[in-house]
Amino acid sequence: MSTTEPAIALSGLRKTFGAVEAVAGIDLEIADGEFFSMLGPSGSGKTTVLRMIAGFELPTAGTVWLSGRDVTRQAPYERDVNTVFQDYALFPHLSVLENVEYGLKVRKVARRERRARAEAALESVRLPGFGGRKPSAMSGGQRQRVALARALVNRPRVLLLDEPLGALDLKLREQMQVELKQIQRDVGITFVFVTHDQDEALTMSDRVAVFDSGRIAQVGTPEEVYEHPATPFVAGFVGTSNLLRGDAARQLIGREGTFSVRPEKIELTEGAGNGTVAEVIYAGPVTRFVVDLDAGARMVVVEQNRRTGKSTLSQMRGKRVQLTWQDEHVIEIGVNHAS
Ligand code: ATP
Repeated sequence: MSTTEPAIALSGLRKTFGAVEAVAGIDLEIADGEFFSMLGPSGSGKTTVLRMIAGFELPTAGTVWLSGRDVTRQAPYERDVNTVFQDYALFPHLSVLENVEYGLKVRKVARRERRARAEAALESVRLPGFGGRKPSAMSGGQRQRVALARALVNRPRVLLLDEPLGALDLKLREQMQVELKQIQRDVGITFVFVTHDQDEALTMSDRVAVFDSGRIAQVGTPEEVYEHPATPFVAGFVGTSNLLRGDAARQLIGREGTFSVRPEKIELTEGAGNGTVAEVIYAGPVTRFVVDLDAGARMVVVEQNRRTGKSTLSQMRGKRVQLTWQDEHVIEIGVNHAS
């Protein structure tokens, strides 16, 4: 049943630990069925917010609403919420099926129904037929999916995921990002996903909240936070900020303000120019150039296919280059041109 109430609403949410203000006042609404990410550096308060939604942590101030109900003082088990942690926390002595049905057993669900629901949950995470195995006989990605199945089996309205892919290697991680997104779409449950990895957040989410020192610096679609960052911090955290301000802004943009041009929007031409190549970084499909502009800013340029007839990469360091970009690719920080 869908409601018009947001799945989660936080108002004036704060949490202090002694002198540390971990969460400094957060107002946020997450819609039913959304894939929502909380993105931010280590220590910015993401996990503490998640723990207050789950009920593991009592707010110092503020309110947590779930589907329109004030649950601020409710115990975790009274909330229609489940959590998947990074370390999976599977029981090693139980089979996969027993792990998945554990929560139902605690709730005294009859054996037959338990089995059926656990098998359906394993199917929803694309592990049908794996029920008889022990977790130790599965790969990291499979174990992660068992943990997901175990959290989904109670059919919670909201699933909280705290860096669930953090322990996986890059390849598996990228594969699981796509799968998680598909699973979320299939089951239609609201996912709140905590990560410090901007690519991950941009790839998977309907919307992203960017955390900065216990506050939300910006909430928006991946496109909005990348194309129209609200603050220099957001510009730098969800990409390479390439900030132009002060003299550099006056000379290169022609007016006052704080601006950014994303690395993939800059053209680099060899020859007499407006800067010098400080560093060349080869990264497979792309090459990154770090360029010191005469106007006094350091810019990163990403090139996809380096055409022939140019200097080799190793010859580029120290070369004079001209950086150019189109006006439409100049982002003015804090100004949303889309609206
Ligand atoms: P990470 O990505 O490293 O998990 P985070 O953004 O999730 O970081 P939190 O774990 O929410 O950040 O921590 C926010 C701040 O609160 C940090 O300064 C942290 O040291 C502090 N903190 C969190 N939990 C506690 C606690 N139980 N006691 C004291 N301080 C805490």
